Amino acid sequence: MMNNHFADVILPLALRGTFTYSIGNEFTGKVFPGMRVLVQVGSKKVYTGIICRIHDEPPALEKIRPITGILDDVPVADAIQIRLWQWISGYYMCTPGEVMKAALPSALFPEGMVAGTLREKYRPRKEAFVQIHTESAGDELNLIIDKLNRSPKQRHLFITYLKMSGYPGCSEKIPLKKELLLREADVSQAVLESLVRKKILVSLMLETSRLSNQENRRDPFSILSDPQKKALDKIRHLFSEKGIVLLHGVTSSGKTEIYIHLIEEQLKQGRQVLYLLPEIALTTQIINRLKKHFGDSTGVYHSRFSEAEKVEIRNKVASGDAGGGYGLVIGVRSALFLPFRKLGLVIIDEEQDPSYKQHDPAPRYHARDTAIVLAGLHGAHALLGSASPSVESYHNSVTGKYGLVELKERYGFVNLPEIILANTRESYRKKLMISHFTPELLEAMDEALNNKEQIILFQNRRGFAPYLECPECGWVPKCNQCSVNLTYHKGQNRLICHYCGYFQPLPAHCGNCNSPGLVTRGFGTEKIEDEIRIVFPKARVARLDQDTTKGRDAFNRIISAFEQNRTDILIGTQMISKGLDFENLTVVGVLNADNLLNFPDFRAHERSFHLLEQVSGRAGRRKKQGRVIIQTADPDNKIIRLVLKHDYYNLFRLQAEERQAFNYPPFCRMIRISLKHKDRAALNGFSDILGNDLKSVFGKRVLGPEYPLISRIQSWYIKTILIKLGRDKSAVNAKLVIAEAIARLEKEKGASSLRIAIDVDPY
Ligand code: ADP
Ligand code: ZN
Ligand code: ZN
Repeated sequence: MMNNHFADVILPLALRGTFTYSIGNEFTGKVFPGMRVLVQVGSKKVYTGIICRIHDEPPALEKIRPITGILDDVPVADAIQIRLWQWISGYYMCTPGEVMKAALPSALFPEGMVAGTLREKYRPRKEAFVQIHTESAGDELNLIIDKLNRSPKQRHLFITYLKMSGYPGCSEKIPLKKELLLREADVSQAVLESLVRKKILVSLMLETSRLSNQENRRDPFSILSDPQKKALDKIRHLFSEKGIVLLHGVTSSGKTEIYIHLIEEQLKQGRQVLYLLPEIALTTQIINRLKKHFGDSTGVYHSRFSEAEKVEIRNKVASGDAGGGYGLVIGVRSALFLPFRKLGLVIIDEEQDPSYKQHDPAPRYHARDTAIVLAGLHGAHALLGSASPSVESYHNSVTGKYGLVELKERYGFVNLPEIILANTRESYRKKLMISHFTPELLEAMDEALNNKEQIILFQNRRGFAPYLECPECGWVPKCNQCSVNLTYHKGQNRLICHYCGYFQPLPAHCGNCNSPGLVTRGFGTEKIEDEIRIVFPKARVARLDQDTTKGRDAFNRIISAFEQNRTDILIGTQMISKGLDFENLTVVGVLNADNLLNFPDFRAHERSFHLLEQVSGRAGRRKKQGRVIIQTADPDNKIIRLVLKHDYYNLFRLQAEERQAFNYPPFCRMIRISLKHKDRAALNGFSDILGNDLKSVFGKRVLGPEYPLISRIQSWYIKTILIKLGRDKSAVNAKLVIAEAIARLEKEKGASSLRIAIDVDPY
């Protein structure tokens, strides 16, 4: 009997498992795992799927369908990638199809799902090039130059071509981009046309990358300070011992400089490096910094690229540095899915950042943890970096699972910023507040403005006011599709729901007692901006939040204006807290630390500490010690006291104790199931069935079902069930039990209008 008759295919559908098809004679020896194939599903539909395994085990099916077409000569996903997908699908309890859809650009999946109307979405772009004409290629270059003596412009253009192409030997034809050549020679198209008529040069269309080519200028590497050198040596040493290292370095200690040295080492050895960042917004400054060192071999990947651009980036990652592709890739979480050839190192910067976790849709994966698995599959090292590591990662390094390297001082011994607490309760009582600003903050701002230094003000809410209220009866306008208050946006004169986008004009009267004059409560960035313009009429003010950065380049414009000192005061949400490095920034104001700390979540304290440290870390990075003014009604709060001393270690100790006492990660594993239904009673019924089913196996380790804080979004009622499993045992069996319970629930009558989402490590 012949070998390899069957192929297991992953389909881009939310169906469990893979599907087996037969490989007809015409395809024998031509199909390999990782190739896209066409297969029929149901009676009519043809889908593009990916082969994940080829084997010779006939499935227990009556009728097995054949593969109807192959789309690739070369696999689009290699064995390591397919193994990564399988790990994600198993660990995060989602279907392989959901992982594949997240992993591959949709351009790789032809539009028409029906065979025959198949069209590839991705077409390479062609551009005009110029090269030496075949008839001239054999001639002596000098002879050609001599012939052109009487047409100086043509001669100049030809010499420029030779220079730019590096004086090729006579028979070598090196194409140069027409646009670049004409620009460099500074001659018109007509000059080129004359040379083309004389059969000296020829113009042709060639495929190019859509991605812009940067010039290949490289900056020298900085010389590391002694503490940085020691840290680098220790990282190398721990890499060989444990493979995974946590670099805990205070803000501005030079973590990025250390990354640069490690990247260089890998590239020199012909290996690739993946540099993960939590958000696109962070990438601009870092990209510029890394491109200065690594030039064109630096690739960037995030979700704002078009699908066609994503295909090109994939191709360049697949060629690797040596093939003119990318050695270093800077990207957000989805960059994990690029087809690396020889990955040597994965850097996960700001490893504590919540944006690394994808919450919706599935796969609900954590990019830090998945990156560590990816590194393992490649035999590569993983480096986690942070100024205030997540409790999980620090715990892992304290227990010896990861290596730990610490950098305790800022580069150049600039002091960490001085933190000043400003008691808002007291200032309100003494009537010293000017709108939302304490005398402490105003004084520091005055001084900075006088010295021509810059200021950042942080407020964790966008919009003008988080809600409106009727002063007579206390009525608050709410979204009619979600259980949340509507936020007032003054610029648009609207009330907006931050969960579903619903908006309405500002109501003139109370919806309950009809009295006029609703008042605003609380404050967001928009209100702060308004007030700052009144208090500091001469200052140049800008605001950075989701509302001001909707345009493609808006973020960069606001940041560069601040960088170039064209803005004095920048007001923003957590967008301004991360990664940014401004030379002249000396004062940071946190307008209301209390709403961070009072958030009902087991990570609220840890996150508040990170955020306050991060925002503070923007101040005084280069020359002068910065000052951070934290406004709070509760200056004795224990987290705030720790921020005051930049005392990460005690934060960790306290958090770890609490989590152990109340059984939270990293001392347990959490799996959260959310159920959604448009009918409240039906939702209650279904969630009770599932809850009871799970309790019969896991007992008290099942919490809920209960309504979450926001119990309705976009007309869907929500209930959640939380399962806390012991750390000691593997969760594989528990996951099987949960999957079976859900499968049983899905068979209940009427369950098709229920939506179920499983989130493993939902934090
Ligand atoms: P981190 O990543 O820890 O916040 P950075 O690497 O951004 O710190 O360093 C902070 C600042 O100090 C940057 O402007 C960086 O260029 C500078 N710096 C750090 N280390 C060195 C060094 N060894 N030589 C020159 N400049 C350095
Ligand atoms: Zn009222
Ligand atoms: Zn809503």
